[in-house]
Amino acid sequence: MVQDRAKLVAELIEPLRVKPGTKVTLGKDFDPGYKARFVHKKDGTELLQAGVSLLCEYQDKLAAQDTWGMLVCLQALDAAGKDGTIRHVMSGVNPQGVHVSSFKVPSSEELDHDYLWRYAQRLPARGDIGIFNRSHYEEVLVVRVHPDVLDRQKLPPGTKGKDIWARRYREINDWERFLAENGFKIVKLFLNLSKEEQRIRFLKRVDLPDKNWKLSPNDAKERAFWDDYQVAFSEMLTHTSTEWAPWYVIPADRKWFARICVSAILAHTLADIDPQYPTVDAAKLKDLTDVKALLEGEAPAGASPDPFEDELVAQASETQTRTDNKRHHS
Ligand code: ATP
Ligand code: MG
Repeated sequence: MVQDRAKLVAELIEPLRVKPGTKVTLGKDFDPGYKARFVHKKDGTELLQAGVSLLCEYQDKLAAQDTWGMLVCLQALDAAGKDGTIRHVMSGVNPQGVHVSSFKVPSSEELDHDYLWRYAQRLPARGDIGIFNRSHYEEVLVVRVHPDVLDRQKLPPGTKGKDIWARRYREINDWERFLAENGFKIVKLFLNLSKEEQRIRFLKRVDLPDKNWKLSPNDAKERAFWDDYQVAFSEMLTHTSTEWAPWYVIPADRKWFARICVSAILAHTLADIDPQYPTVDAAKLKDLTDVKALLEGEAPAGASPDPFEDELVAQASETQTRTDNKRHHS
């Protein structure tokens, strides 16, 4: 059963992974409307629920082990569903173990530092899952599409030539490799929305009063740069999907399917870490036995020395009786 689930997850996410070293042309290589033929909308809620429980389980072990951390980078154009994805996929996961950081236009303090500085400050700790809602990849996306944004970065003369993007890809790959080698697993998700679906979602935000707040005038302005963004995303995917920090392109036109894909990818990545609850060594075992003896000695007159142990024994004997009966009837 567990093996079947792992196989299904692997099969689901394989076509979404950008193989390191392959050249990506978004419009040609990835369809925003793609859906795996073996996943059906009617099963969507149940599948997502299964993914969420799996994530909860892994997250608990990740925190207990306190050795690895996981960083999830989410990139997308407006209205692709970043916020909703985070909300749905992380629902039910212990909020103490998950930290979401959103990155907006940099402040003047941030612009006074190197371009990775603000992202480094928000990295997850060991045992934590960090989610970057927009990430250091903005530094090769919005910054590339709008040259005036680059101008504000106060770079020294001679560092803004044509080779700047190739250099940034290398620097980002190196930074991520350093993190990966030090116990931080990185997974990068690009929610790939079609231009027509974005148009419809923007209109929905105009037409429905309680969605009005979601649409900023800037969103429509950015849409005019659609083609430039497609090129910037394609280049980013081509140059920064690595063995240690792969990109996945999530078809985002169907929200329910996108969420299933994201939860499957996160579960798969955590399965790769395979976090374990710490085991108890002999010294700790002795401590536990001593504490037990002490607490049992404090039992009030007439009370069982360990009521909890009584319950465990009762449960075990009930299970045994049920198994015996089953065997007897079969
Ligand atoms: P939502 O609209 O759902 O609240 P959002 O991530 O779109 O979420 P906004 O405040 O609308 O948040 O937009 C953030 C803006 O910040 C985006 O236009 C993005 O391109 C911009 N931004 C992010 N990082 C950088 C950066 N390093 N340099 C310049 N602009 C950036
Ligand atoms: Mg926005």
